[in-house]
Amino acid sequence: MIWYPYQQMKTMKEPYKITDAQGVWLYTKDHRMIDSVSSWWSVIHGYKHPLLTEAIKSQADCFSHVMLGGLTHEPVQKLADKLADWLPGDLDCCFFSDSGSVAVEVALKMALQYYVNRGEIKRTKVLSLTHAYHGDTFKTMEVGDDEDYHFILEAYGPNPNVIHIPTDIPSLEKTFELCHSELNCLIVEPLLQGAGGMRMYDISFLKRARELCDLYDVLLIFDEVATGFGRTGNRFVADLVLPDILVLGKALTGGYIGHAVTVANKKVYDGFYDNDQNKALMHGPTFMGNALACSAALKSIELFEQEDYLSKIRRIEKITRQEMKGFTDPRIKEVRIMGGCVCIEVHDPAVLQGYQQFAFEQGVFSRPFLNYLYAMVPYIINEAELLQVLRTMKAWFRR
Ligand SMILES: *Cc1c(COP(=O)(O)O)cnc(C)c1O
Repeated sequence: MIWYPYQQMKTMKEPYKITDAQGVWLYTKDHRMIDSVSSWWSVIHGYKHPLLTEAIKSQADCFSHVMLGGLTHEPVQKLADKLADWLPGDLDCCFFSDSGSVAVEVALKMALQYYVNRGEIKRTKVLSLTHAYHGDTFKTMEVGDDEDYHFILEAYGPNPNVIHIPTDIPSLEKTFELCHSELNCLIVEPLLQGAGGMRMYDISFLKRARELCDLYDVLLIFDEVATGFGRTGNRFVADLVLPDILVLGKALTGGYIGHAVTVANKKVYDGFYDNDQNKALMHGPTFMGNALACSAALKSIELFEQEDYLSKIRRIEKITRQEMKGFTDPRIKEVRIMGGCVCIEVHDPAVLQGYQQFAFEQGVFSRPFLNYLYAMVPYIINEAELLQVLRTMKAWFRR
């Protein structure tokens, strides 16, 4: 049997069984629906893209996987070169892994060891944000602040090595002033906090964070697993404010195969570069640099560039703003829009009960959580399809 994610198996509703998928459409045996979630925000080019499928097939004809311990290959070298070239600043050093959570673990390990390698063993603390989500493994749960995960961490008691602050500049400044000598890093989902409730905040916070990290010599980590590849309307938020370590996942392969990467700048990399083996980064996921995933990622980036995806995302944002203009309801707390993300936050989660089935009947797949009804559509969506998603969201409040 399958143990499904985030589900009470006893009361879980039967999931929709997908038999085919193309473009924005998911097909069951006798129904079709637009995937307004992009399979957890990853399938930015839609399903069954001929060039992505071809990239995977032709690599599979050669070899699907070889380990990176003692071996290397062209797809992983090309992807590392491409990322070094494409990403801003000197974010050049790519450590690959199989999922976003692991890539965040690697980033946190890098930050801690960076200082240990310099003999600064008192910098044990991580600064992160309230409502943060960075993954489901143990350290990422600790730096995260998702109410739904707290129950398991409570078994440990309070964690002295993580400090959570809200996204306001006074809290940021105060914490740096008080704790800077113990901090190894500040980790954030920049501009858009995803699983913590599609919360959006201002770039000025990140600019101030960069200044304080420079002033007090603390590493700045951007977890762009969700925001990377255009979701906020920026290619990467790292294009606006440069972090020391950047984590990418989800849309890295266009959502075709699980893969992620932790990209360090030269300063972080140099902190490990030594004759001393003890200063090496001791990490190595079995499937890091998987050749099928690297081939898909290369093709995905090529499509993103050649077909000017940023203009597609601007179009999505424009239509979304037009459609949501003036839309209110007493049950709605706020409607938030940023790039390719729209979220309706309601006061009471009970308001969203039954929405998934309602949307299914309107030909839309949606997965609201807690108080949040949101859409993060594939960027290749056309106007009629996008309107179908947005009008289904609105129709729920107009029944
Ligand atoms: C999804 C997500 C992760 C975890 O990625 P997985 O591939 O599910 O392990 C980490 N950080 C952010 C911001 C995410 O949205």
